[in-house]
Amino acid sequence: MDSFDVAVIGSGPGGYVAAIRCAQLGLKTAIIEKYSTKGGTCLNVGCIPSKALLDSSHHYEDALKHFEEHGIEIKGDVSLNFQKMIERKNSVVEQTTKGIDFLMDKNNITSFEGVGAFKDKTHIVITHKDDKTTEIEAKNTIIATGSKPNSLPFLEIDKERIITSTEALSLKEIPKHLIMIGGGVIGLELGQVYKRLGAEVTVIEYMDRIIPTMDKALSKELMKVMKKQKVKFKLSHKVKSVEREGDKITVKADDKKGNEVVFEGDYCLVSVGRKPYTTGLNAENAGVKINDKGQVEVNEKLQTAAENIYAIGDVVHGAMLAHKAEEEGSFVAEVIAGQKPHIDYNLIPNVVYTWPEVASVGRTEEQLKEDGVEYKVGQFPMRALGRSRASGDVDGLVKILSHKETDEVLGAHMIGARAADLIAEAVTAMEFRASAEDMARMSHAHPTYAEAVKEAALAATEDRALHI
Ligand code: FAD
Ligand code: NAD
Repeated sequence: MDSFDVAVIGSGPGGYVAAIRCAQLGLKTAIIEKYSTKGGTCLNVGCIPSKALLDSSHHYEDALKHFEEHGIEIKGDVSLNFQKMIERKNSVVEQTTKGIDFLMDKNNITSFEGVGAFKDKTHIVITHKDDKTTEIEAKNTIIATGSKPNSLPFLEIDKERIITSTEALSLKEIPKHLIMIGGGVIGLELGQVYKRLGAEVTVIEYMDRIIPTMDKALSKELMKVMKKQKVKFKLSHKVKSVEREGDKITVKADDKKGNEVVFEGDYCLVSVGRKPYTTGLNAENAGVKINDKGQVEVNEKLQTAAENIYAIGDVVHGAMLAHKAEEEGSFVAEVIAGQKPHIDYNLIPNVVYTWPEVASVGRTEEQLKEDGVEYKVGQFPMRALGRSRASGDVDGLVKILSHKETDEVLGAHMIGARAADLIAEAVTAMEFRASAEDMARMSHAHPTYAEAVKEAALAATEDRALHI
């Protein structure tokens, strides 16, 4: 029987990063993945394919609607080869997942394909596709088994017309009317993809705003922009039934006043969150506890009830984000190696890759109010930037929240072109506990979108933005 210092179950961004960091620290490491391609949700049916389709559909929309204003004239029709777009997305996924195999080999990590299940605290049985099994011994195990799409109790996902994000990334045709249940990050990203490709898109959201966990200013601005893009929103609507008859989907919801509203479409995408995945793990054989939300229960060291078994990423509490899983992967590897790492969960950024992009770090204005923290707000609109006018990306704003007395930056919230990249500046500043004035006094290259961050920081410092 092969024996390892560490076995990692699951090869998503949590698992594969944990394996690399373990190997870097000199630990003999194995990784177990049930599918033939590594990379988990993120690389196969999440972050990467959704961004590939967002980028492709953005090019298509630009060609249809925006080239002309730049003086670029297309002689003849712009036409869409949707299957080619999907094939390109598949090839981006393939290249990226192959990269993980390369990294495993480079770091001398032993890969096993099959479902990993605990026999006891130190033994894992791997069941391969042909039902044959391999048993390995592991001094330590890291559970990184991720998550699956959530559903609603009355709803049957048929994977054809009533679908999750997984199917929405590989459709055979463009829906005529796509009804999205949930105005969170998946609903908005994939809603925007299909809107750009010509579908009618209706987003039904239970709460009174979209992206309800982000700062309210971002919800408001993103909804305004997406409404201009002709996405329809039904807020404060509770979906109560989804029925399919042939190609027709009927969704019934109750509005705020309890009135029934009926929606008809040809596809319904259910994007109401994700749930942790531990099926087939036999966690109980190792004494690992699963809580009533289905998450693996861990302490502050991400250690389970079994001291040699750890868990990370979507399968534990916290934000379901690839970079959060990655940080936890490195963290646990370093704990196992005897180091004392640290993660500041308040500084894990949150991004929605619509266009304009939405990005956020730290506390929202609503949270500061709730916590009774005295704060200052500095806000700057993207349209006041020369760079935004040059590219034509004038929608959005940057909002910096700083402490009223100390001026320490407590939160940064932005919507605009390349906000997903701009947020890194705020994360760096907050990691070093910068004040808004520190951010404002740093030189920002001109002309860039990043100047909006400087201007918002100036506005937060003492209301002295320069260009508005
Ligand atoms: P996963 O990536 O889910 O990986 C778990 C792996 O474990 C899987 O490969 C699974 O097959 C394997 N596994 C499970 N059980 C076993 C077992 N018993 N034996 C062997 N293998 C097993 N996050 C972002 O930060 N940015 C984004 O832009 C983004 N976009 C997304 C878009 C979509 C459409 C979706 C669905 C998600 C997106 N996410 C994004 C979220 C991100 O994908 C997850 O947070 C991330 O993948 C979690 O990583 P993980 O390693 O915890 O789990
Ligand atoms: P989400 O939690 O972002 O949004 C779900 C939305 O559905 C919420 O707004 C919620 O209020 C709403 N909802 C819940 N029940 C409802 C009902 N019965 N009727 C109408 N609305 C209802 O979840 P998601 O969009 O499914 O994404 C799942 C996870 O994947 C998220 O946790 C996210 O972190 C991750 N993800 C991240 C990215 C990114 O980082 N860019 C992209 C996609 C997915």
